[in-house]
Amino acid sequence: MLTKDVAICIRALDYSETSQIATFFARETGKISAIAKGSKRPKSYGPIEVFSYGKIVVSVPAGEKLATLTEFDQQSNFGALAGNLFTLHCASFAAELVNLLTNDCDPHPELFDAFLQFLQNINESQLTSHEPPAATVRRHGGRVTRGELSLLILFQLTLLKEIGLQPILNACANCKSNFSPNWPQSYFSNSANGLICRDCEANFPDRIGLSNSAADCLGNLKLLADADEKTLNEIEKVLVHHFTEILHRPPKMAKHVLKS
Ligand SMILES: [Zn+2]
Repeated sequence: MLTKDVAICIRALDYSETSQIATFFARETGKISAIAKGSKRPKSYGPIEVFSYGKIVVSVPAGEKLATLTEFDQQSNFGALAGNLFTLHCASFAAELVNLLTNDCDPHPELFDAFLQFLQNINESQLTSHEPPAATVRRHGGRVTRGELSLLILFQLTLLKEIGLQPILNACANCKSNFSPNWPQSYFSNSANGLICRDCEANFPDRIGLSNSAADCLGNLKLLADADEKTLNEIEKVLVHHFTEILHRPPKMAKHVLKS
């Protein structure tokens, strides 16, 4: 059976001198792994790189797990991502989470669109980052990393929503009282899957205390775009902890994105 779709490569492994095994996240098909025979030969459609995006045709033989990639019409590989290590790490973390948290052939078109948009935005942020030296935070190769981190956080929250694990961030996940920036103290709890107010915190031993600015951003995601680096790093730490609980192990890319 031939399947045509648009897809983003989220993993690519060498299989032989000339062939690869690629995992694609396809819009209508979901995650699919396929052998790309001869993809490393000159004049082929390959080699296939992670984040390459375009139309694929795969043949799925009955009874066999691995499909065969027969065509790949690459439209983009988001080449600017490779220009900065932190940007590349953020994109790789997003791809790792998509791979770990979606099942084979389980379509998530909205998640696909969000992932594509995330890659476009983060690729764009790399192309347009011309911070004057005086304003540049000397981290990760001397560049400000706020933009990438806020895009990653928003994508991670979208991912949780699309896989049915949307955290409750506009109210206390326990007593349902609406979040307010006036809360004297706010927490995030993995087990409650959301924010927890001071009245309820004693019931959630796994709670993580949040700074006021982190709680404000989670309660109102529009604030993320202007949040400072410290706040974004705090929120990302909370999310990494949350993903670690969901996956029962830390995602591999987490340590490359978090600052200690
Ligand atoms: Zn409460």
